[in-house]
Order: sequence, then structure tokens, then C-alpha cells
Amino acid sequence: MASKVDLAIIGAGPHALTLVTHLLKKRQKIRSKIAVFDPSGGWLHQWKQQFAALGIPHLRSPAAHHPDPNAFALRKFAEPRPHELFAPYDLPGTKLFDDFCGDVIRRWNLENAVTPGEITCIEPLPHSFRPWLHLWLKDGKSIIARRVVLATGSSQFQIPDWVSQIQTPYPQDRLCHSQLIDLRKLQLAGERILIVGGGLTSGHLAIGALSLMAKVDIFIRRQLQEKIFDAEPGWLGPKYLKAFFAEPNFHNRWRMIKEARNGGSITPAMGVQLRRERRQGQVRIYENTQVVKAEWLGNYWLIKTNKGEQYEYDRIWLSTGTHFDVHSQPLLENILQAYPISVVNGLPVLEHNLCWHGCPLFLMGGLAALQIGPTARNLSGARMASEKLEKAIIKSAVIPYQAILA
Ligand SMILES: Cc1cc2nc3c(=O)[nH]c(=O)nc-3n(C[C@H](O)[C@H](O)[C@H](O)COP(=O)(O)OP(=O)(O)OC[C@H]3O[C@@H](n4cnc5c(N)ncnc54)[C@H](O)[C@@H]3O)c2cc1C
Repeated sequence: MASKVDLAIIGAGPHALTLVTHLLKKRQKIRSKIAVFDPSGGWLHQWKQQFAALGIPHLRSPAAHHPDPNAFALRKFAEPRPHELFAPYDLPGTKLFDDFCGDVIRRWNLENAVTPGEITCIEPLPHSFRPWLHLWLKDGKSIIARRVVLATGSSQFQIPDWVSQIQTPYPQDRLCHSQLIDLRKLQLAGERILIVGGGLTSGHLAIGALSLMAKVDIFIRRQLQEKIFDAEPGWLGPKYLKAFFAEPNFHNRWRMIKEARNGGSITPAMGVQLRRERRQGQVRIYENTQVVKAEWLGNYWLIKTNKGEQYEYDRIWLSTGTHFDVHSQPLLENILQAYPISVVNGLPVLEHNLCWHGCPLFLMGGLAALQIGPTARNLSGARMASEKLEKAIIKSAVIPYQAILA
């Protein structure tokens, strides 16, 4: 028989960790009722991998954003290591942030809290007044949960249309999305690389490829944009969020999110680095430029652009970002069928407390953006989501636990 749990959290990234520390701060006793699942069996595996793979030296977000409920905890932790907070606005160095998260995990006694396992299916189970959820793991085991939080990151690669029109077969590693690239495993000396996209990841990839002695071109479909953060800091408080939450029309909320994020941008510091490399002839940046056709000619790419120009490359890296679409989430297939809800351009219209209407499933991350705002996917979004979730989860935890196990 499947074992039962009060609260299952799927994923053990920064969002899940933020939620668990917030719940424990509110109610220590909830610890024994939570089960966290992640294929890695540990915390922040994906987060650490993405920073290491691109050699990212520091975060884009300031030191106030992290998984501990005390907003000042990272600053305090960094006191003996001030040189690891980068200008402007004290951006934590990657190692500092990882060490801090390790400290959070120890302080909250969460070292052994993650169960190794990938959830492959969520099935609603009829129950007296609210359904429970049956979670299936990849190894065939299953578990029944009274409530579930989906904190899997859940984004889909954004792939430009011209990729599906490539007619010549090509080696997979010669055209890939940025999230599949691990610079530590590549030898690029003398290679010509095209990076498509104008976000910060393009900058990291370009600097990484240059350090491996490659030549880099960057195509940006509009002008290169410089912004300190993904979205303006006004989106972290009432300045913009008041109007966002007052907006009853979720299509308008979606537009507000899109305008606030406004596509990819690099930081001013990355801008300085890229311009320096451009002056030295190592990088060429083509603005208002898009690929219209790509052909693999046996051992190199021939690219045609919207400006009628042609270029040759050894590799193409798609730094074209990710998007969130509830319909592309296999884990949500049964839920969508059993409990249909409104979806606006891929984003589900959740209840105010991030609950899926009619069913004890809560979403965190980018899929919760219509109730959190443009920073839903970021560390700041994790805190905002946790504040909503802790109220919903702790409040409904008053149902006696014996009743769950009955
Ligand atoms: C390169 C990069 C840099 C970033 N830098 C910043 C930054 O500086 N500041 C900021 O605020 N944001 C940043 N972000 C955005 C965001 O904070 C991160 O993407 C963050 O990792 C999101 O956390 P998460 O917990 O939602 O997802 P993830 O970190 O992706 O964690 C999700 C976890 O869920 C697990 N999982 C997935 N599917 C399943 C399943 N079916 N069953 C069980 N487990 C599953 C995965 O293994 C993973 O460990 C960055 C993003 C990228 C890509």
C-alpha cells in the first residue's frame, strides 16, 4: 500500500527550500509532516549546476534574496567575507551564496530532508470533502499526499522557429539551448560560435567561450538592453504590485508581467566586459539581427540573416530563454483534465494563495506569476510565494494528523 504524507513538495530547488524554512519558522512541528522529492536526493542541485556550467561568478539579485526567512541572514553570514558581495547592491558571489545555503540547510536541520526520486505522475484521488493526490515515482513506488506543492522550476526552452525548419541532419551538440551547455566539458580553441539572444546568459556564455579561445558572434533581435535586475525593484513591493494585485483581469496582469520583464537584458557590468572584448576584436555583436535560415554543411553551419547576410559557424548556442506553459507540464496533465481552470497564455489562474481551484495542489515559480508578479521565478518570488503558502498550509494543517493517516 502507498504510504501517506500530509504535505509533499516536488523539487528541492531554492523555491522549495525557501518554502520549507518559512513553514518551519511558523510551526516547527510541521517538519514530520513534510516530504520533499528531488531526483538528486539533495538541495539546490539544479541551481548549483547552472552556475557551475556557465562559470557565473555572482548572482544577479542582491543579498536580501535567499531562502532563509530572515532577510538579513545572508548579509550577516557575509560579514567576514565582504569582498564576496559585488557592486552594485551587494550581489552575493556564487560560492558565498552556496555556503550560505549550506548553512541554512544545517541551521534548519534539513540535511536529510530530501528523498531521492522523480515524480512522474500526479493523480487526484476522491476523498471525503477534498481530493488527495496520488504521486507516482519513476521507480514505480507511489505516495498519497493530502497537499502537494509543485516547485520544479517548470520552464520550457524557448526555441526559435527557424530551428524546426533546418533540413540537413546535424550533430546535437552543434546546436543547443543554453541550459544544456556545460562550459567545463568543452574544448573550443579556434571555433566560431554564434550565440542567439541578448540576455545575461548570452554574456556569460560569450565570456566563457572567449576564455576557451573561441571567437564569438552574438545576434540580438533588437538592441542590446542593459538593466541591473530582471525586473525593476518596484516589483518587489507595493510600488508596482499594488496596481498588479488590484487588476482583476488576468490578461492585463499577463501583459504587465511581460512589459516588466521586457525580454532579456544584460547587467551594466556585463556590458562593460562585452564592449571591452568587442574593442579587442574577440566578440561581434549584431543588433536587430535574426537568423532566418540555418544549414549544416557537414562540418559547419551556414547562417542567413534577416539582413540578407551570410555567416559560417562551428556551433550555435540558443540563449533564447525559457517560458512557462501549464499545458506542457506532463505532471499537470491529469489535474488539468480533472480540475480545468482558466489559463492565460500558458499561465494558470490560481487562487490567491497559489492553490489550484478544487484540488489541494499549490504551484510555485514562474507558473504562479499571475498571483506573484514578474519576479515569480526568481528568489524574491520564492519568498513572496512562501509567504502566501505558509498561511494556506499552516491554516489547513489544523485538521488532526490522525485523520490523514486513517
Ligand atoms: C543561469 C541562471 C542564473 C540565475 N540567477 C538568478 C539570480 O541571481 N537571482 C534570482 O533571483 N534568480 C536567478 N535565476 C532564476 C531562478 O531563481 C532560478 O532559475 C532558480 O533555480 C529557480 O528555482 P526553482 O526552485 O524554481 O527551480 P530549480 O532550481 O530548477 O529547482 C527545481 C528542482 O526540481 C527538481 N525537479 C524537477 N522535476 C521534478 C520531478 N518531476 N520530480 C522531482 N523533482 C523534480 C529539479 O531536479 C530541481 O532540483 C537564475 C536562473 C538561471 C537559469
